[in-house]
Amino acid sequence: MPPIHLATTFERDVDGGYARGYSYSRENNPNRLSLEVALTALENGAACCAFPSGMAAAFAVFSTLQPGAHVLVADDCYYGVGELLRGHMQRWGVTSSFVDLSDLVATRTALRAETQLIWAESPSNPMLKICDLQALADIAHEAGALLAVDNTWPTPLGQRPLDLGADYVAHSTTKHLSGHSDVMGGAVIVREEGEGLQRMRDVQNHGGVIPAPFDCWLTRRGIFSLAARLQLHTQNAAHLAEALHAHPGVSHVHYPGLADDPGHELASQQMLGFGGMLSFQVPGGAAQAMAVAASLQLFLRATSLGGPESLVEHRASIEGPHSKTPPGLLRLAVGLESADDLIDDLSAALAANAQA
Ligand code: PLP
Repeated sequence: MPPIHLATTFERDVDGGYARGYSYSRENNPNRLSLEVALTALENGAACCAFPSGMAAAFAVFSTLQPGAHVLVADDCYYGVGELLRGHMQRWGVTSSFVDLSDLVATRTALRAETQLIWAESPSNPMLKICDLQALADIAHEAGALLAVDNTWPTPLGQRPLDLGADYVAHSTTKHLSGHSDVMGGAVIVREEGEGLQRMRDVQNHGGVIPAPFDCWLTRRGIFSLAARLQLHTQNAAHLAEALHAHPGVSHVHYPGLADDPGHELASQQMLGFGGMLSFQVPGGAAQAMAVAASLQLFLRATSLGGPESLVEHRASIEGPHSKTPPGLLRLAVGLESADDLIDDLSAALAANAQA
């Protein structure tokens, strides 16, 4: 395993150079570099910038835009990204439109002359809508814009957006990549080196938005077991989706691995696996959904995903006034426990709160 390089500064050679490649840890650090190299390879990209959180990675992408730029963004993207665009970015003169990016006609219609970026997330959060990434890349490029894809949920082992034509891939490495709910991080991987990459390096180096060496080391360590973990997350999620789909107390299951899911066909083509996230709806709205979540014993009521533990979340109540999430929806981040135990837990909670 690589050592952790806590040094903030590195010695110059006698001629003033830095033949060993590092000068000051804000500029670069061996642990950050090893993480960036791994993520570049996993996403099949040209380069990567690591950041201290997924939101910092999104912020770095938006910082590459010109003042006055317009962004087209998925109407059910991770709500923090929506808040960043509606708040901070708007104040800096970057406007955005929230569109259903799975509807290509609506997407084309929402383009403006000043659109510089489409920000997509597929599957979306928490409705697990699938959008056609290759078609979105074409639409963006025809309009002189770029496509960025938040690939946090699928991970590079579940989907490779750069191979489908995207220009940037963003990650919250807080989730599956580090994999143990114990370190925050983010990253952007680019398809080609160029001005965009330079601007994001600027956010790291001159904006000072850098992850700590130990955090990079932890995330890099997590990546060693990503393939095995993701396989189990995905297998468990598929079992849970089938069980919930067949349950009389569940009105809808959102999971692209289900044969009757509207995104199933497209997901089967563009994804390498359906992933460990799913959502389901109960008929009694928010009160019943909250009661089911409160009755669960194995699932923890907490935000986030991609750790060993299964999590349940009532998204509508935390997303605030802009939320379009149905009130009866619960999102599950399926962990690494036994699928049978998780199904038993859900069945007991649904039975305890069955609508009369
Ligand atoms: N993108 C997605 C899909 C997420 O789920 C999250 C966090 O939940 C983020 C981005 C933001 O990442 P972070 O919490 O690491 O800042």
